[in-house]
Amino acid sequence: MSEAEDNDDFARLAGLLRKSPRIVCIVGAGLSAPSGLATWRGTNGLWNDEDIRSLASPKRFAEDPVTVWSFYGERLLESLAAQPNAAHHALAALASWHDGWLTVNQNVDGLLERTSHPVSRLLSIHGFLQLVRCTVCDYNIYVRTMEDLPFLASLSTASNRSQFTLSDLPHCPACTKLLRPGVVWFGERLAAGAPDNIESLLEDGIDLVIAAGTSLKVHPAAEWVHRAQADGASIAIIDLDDNHEMVDDLDTGDLFFKQDTTIVLPEVLNLLRSYWNIRI
Ligand SMILES: [Zn+2]
Repeated sequence: MSEAEDNDDFARLAGLLRKSPRIVCIVGAGLSAPSGLATWRGTNGLWNDEDIRSLASPKRFAEDPVTVWSFYGERLLESLAAQPNAAHHALAALASWHDGWLTVNQNVDGLLERTSHPVSRLLSIHGFLQLVRCTVCDYNIYVRTMEDLPFLASLSTASNRSQFTLSDLPHCPACTKLLRPGVVWFGERLAAGAPDNIESLLEDGIDLVIAAGTSLKVHPAAEWVHRAQADGASIAIIDLDDNHEMVDDLDTGDLFFKQDTTIVLPEVLNLLRSYWNIRI
């Protein structure tokens, strides 16, 4: 894509943002990769020879909480060490400005939660790591530093995770039972009121869907995008993947940016500010 075409597409996306009353922005791992957080599935979907998919299940947690907590504890430590990037902040600004905005967040790293993104316009459908909760009672804790959870501090200095036993894992101060990471595992209900909120949005009609940094290969995001498209929504994809799920399904007028989210989202925000004088 030439620079002139680039600028053209940025302007077209800015124009769509301006004229679309209802916007859903679905984000995934590509939003947080520039913050240094690797895609979990990585190149082979393994962690210490374990299939990551098999670690993300309530059954596995019940059978082997030490291994599952060690995996999520490492991810939580990485998230706490990372910072929101320019794409997270641009998204927060857009969501604050646009009254008809909803961000559907598939990431569990909590980085969007650390920006000024309005909470009422953010659905983190897979939960997030920082919100650790009890497996039995209503107790939960928002983890801001590794000191909030002594297990994390131990994990950060451990040379061998097999040194941990059940008693080292985080336990509930209210009822003494095991705490768990606040993420949604396979077979569990999506968090934050989804999918009910999204179903009702789809029924009311969505004017624009932006899919930023997501392959749309994980259920059910792709279905939502196809339904919105069938009902007339414009689609804008921002992703580095050439073989993107949607690339053959785009209509004239839809947009595909094969670019980093930290380039596209701030650029579109700047255009809205400078060209249309919108105070965001
Ligand atoms: Zn409890």
